[in-house]
Amino acid sequence: MHNSARRPTNWAGNVVFSATRTHHPESLDAIRALLAHSGRVRVLGSGHSFSDIADTDGALLSLDALPASIDVDSAAATVRVGGGVRYAELAAAVHAEGLALPNMASLPHISVAGSVATGTHGSGDTNGSLATSVRGLELLTADGELHTLDRERDGDRFAGSVVSLGALGVVTALTLDLVPAFEVRQDVFTGLPLDTVVEQFDALTSAAYSVSLFTDWRAPRFTQAWFKQRVSGDEHRAPHIPWATPAAQPMHPVVGMPPVHCTAQGGAVGPSHERMPHFRAEFTPSNGDELQSEYLLDRRHAADALRAVAALGAVLAPALQVCEVRTVAADGLWLSPAYGRDTVALHFTWTSDAGAVLPVITRLEAALEPWAPRPHWGKLFTLGAPALHERFARLDDFARLRTEYDPQRIFGNAFLRRILGEGHTG
Ligand SMILES: Cc1cc2nc3c(=O)[nH]c(=O)nc-3n(C[C@H](O)[C@H](O)[C@H](O)COP(=O)(O)OP(=O)(O)OC[C@H]3O[C@@H](n4cnc5c(N)ncnc54)[C@H](O)[C@@H]3O)c2cc1C
Repeated sequence: MHNSARRPTNWAGNVVFSATRTHHPESLDAIRALLAHSGRVRVLGSGHSFSDIADTDGALLSLDALPASIDVDSAAATVRVGGGVRYAELAAAVHAEGLALPNMASLPHISVAGSVATGTHGSGDTNGSLATSVRGLELLTADGELHTLDRERDGDRFAGSVVSLGALGVVTALTLDLVPAFEVRQDVFTGLPLDTVVEQFDALTSAAYSVSLFTDWRAPRFTQAWFKQRVSGDEHRAPHIPWATPAAQPMHPVVGMPPVHCTAQGGAVGPSHERMPHFRAEFTPSNGDELQSEYLLDRRHAADALRAVAALGAVLAPALQVCEVRTVAADGLWLSPAYGRDTVALHFTWTSDAGAVLPVITRLEAALEPWAPRPHWGKLFTLGAPALHERFARLDDFARLRTEYDPQRIFGNAFLRRILGEGHTG
């Protein structure tokens, strides 16, 4: 086992972890030894969360020195993937076997286990969050026991353990459902009035397998709409979007930024893992000059919520790089922000100036309150335990599950205390 002594931060640099070092155990037994002797522990995935969800006042534990196993079962169309593996490596490996992940997030560099733990999602009316692909979990708990959880066998316990916020134990491996490899073309359109988006919301979000709508809220219009469409055979064409103009050249979601790191557009067909993320796997940003928030609400309220956000445009715009609107299919995972309802996700990439951004987040949360949105666990929000308990109906059930798996609160941290509304006992 080796460990690094530099004070670690998250990818964006806005969270300097309280832990003074990150351990890199090379085996499950080395993890067990750390769990037995380190006091509090947290697993750090690829560190792409903006909230302090991964923080701990004990030891941070990275799984990047464990074997990066990716074991494809072609007959079953599943893959068992180690707890430290990132989507970029996973997607390329399953593609080589003629298989694919059904969906991906905007960035392929995030770890699978860390993404699943926060309910990370891509877009698409019929696409659940990335966590809905999980069919099995291997969870090493604080007492050193390795639990295997199976979607078919473990019902409610499984549903409570997938989006775990890192609170239950160390996810040492996951088994995911795969689909046959598929090809996708990506087309970008520009200039959609807000009225059109509101009136044609269902038509727009169902016009392709995955749809993202972007705006800077500097005016009541969307600057870009990205359509990722599955292609079969030689016959394919751009989606029919009569309200907007096909982009004349490749675009970055933030108007004015160079599109060189974005996945291919202009209808060029390619394997799904090279089109579903917005950003190319070859380009690995080691840190980011941005902050992010995201609020997920019942998609039936999309029109009202979008109008409320637009009304706040002058407040948002100075702190905002870009806002992205996506859709996510309902799921049954307790802490998933898409639990029990087809969802519209309102994402905000802010500037990196936390002092300017936080008051804007508070205003935004107040404006969206009528629709009781659930925050993305990995992004910045200020909602407290009372609101979160109302919006995540299974949060109390989750707290009980967590007490069962981690009675000593070895994986406890300030984030968990805040969202669960606990005192300073764990
Ligand atoms: C540029 C960028 C783009 C993004 N795009 C999207 C997007 O398109 N859609 C979206 O929904 N989100 C998006 N996110 C948010 C991101 O997907 C989440 O924050 C995700 O959790 C990051 O995964 P990670 O491995 O970096 O997790 P970390 O931030 O490292 O950890 C998150 C949580 O998972 C836990 N954890 C990690 N690994 C394990 C493990 N093996 N066992 C137990 N617990 C573990 C940690 O303890 C922590 O609680 C984006 C973030 C960035 C920076």
